[in-house]
Amino acid sequence: MVEYQIKVRGITDERLLDAFRKVERHLFIPGNSCQFAYDDGPLGIGEGQTISQPYIVALMLDLMKIKPEDIVLEIGTGSGYQTALIAELAQRVYSIERILSLAKNAEQLLKKLGYSNIKIQRGDGTVGWTSENESEKDITFDAIVVSAAAPSIPWGLIAQLKEGGRLVLPCGSRYVQDLICVKKEHGKIKKENFGGCQFVPLIGEQGWEK
Ligand code: SAH
Repeated sequence: MVEYQIKVRGITDERLLDAFRKVERHLFIPGNSCQFAYDDGPLGIGEGQTISQPYIVALMLDLMKIKPEDIVLEIGTGSGYQTALIAELAQRVYSIERILSLAKNAEQLLKKLGYSNIKIQRGDGTVGWTSENESEKDITFDAIVVSAAAPSIPWGLIAQLKEGGRLVLPCGSRYVQDLICVKKEHGKIKKENFGGCQFVPLIGEQGWEK
């Protein structure tokens, strides 16, 4: 998967490739689809949701330019596969999932695999990380990734992006989108388009209606 799907398409960051070598994708794919875990395409993960093609996950993480000291926010935990990859690359990952059963399964699996730098919340990630916890009240992130398709860039996420931070998300219609990388530089927003993609809809206050 790393050699023939990710490296050949131009991802060269060794730290990123090592994370892909380490995290066993088949552990995150439920049921019979598990046998296709290393194939070059998306797969169902239950509840009508999908895990992206490995290369798309790699491209998004590459655009996020995650450093070991970074605090990262992920919207759409899904199976927890991408969460595990981020946990390998960053200091800490905060992840939000709308569907309770997916959030619970991912949390259990990631704990079983020994990750202690991941915090999962069930809720609407379009408004960012919300917490009663005083230390997390004004939390901001070095990088944010949204793994579901947004109709526009959720302002709640821009607000939680640190100066110099990177937000990567699919943005467009409910069925086809462009992969966008947003950078916050000197308080201004810079957008770059990395081409067409297809994700399940981001459902919530600053996403699509159910
Ligand atoms: N990255 C995941 C795949 C995510 S699929 C993986 O590696 O498996 C997209 C996920 O986004 C789905 O699980 C869906 O339930 C979730 N989602 C959709 N809208 C959301 C929202 N507003 N907040 C949080 N999660 C959301």
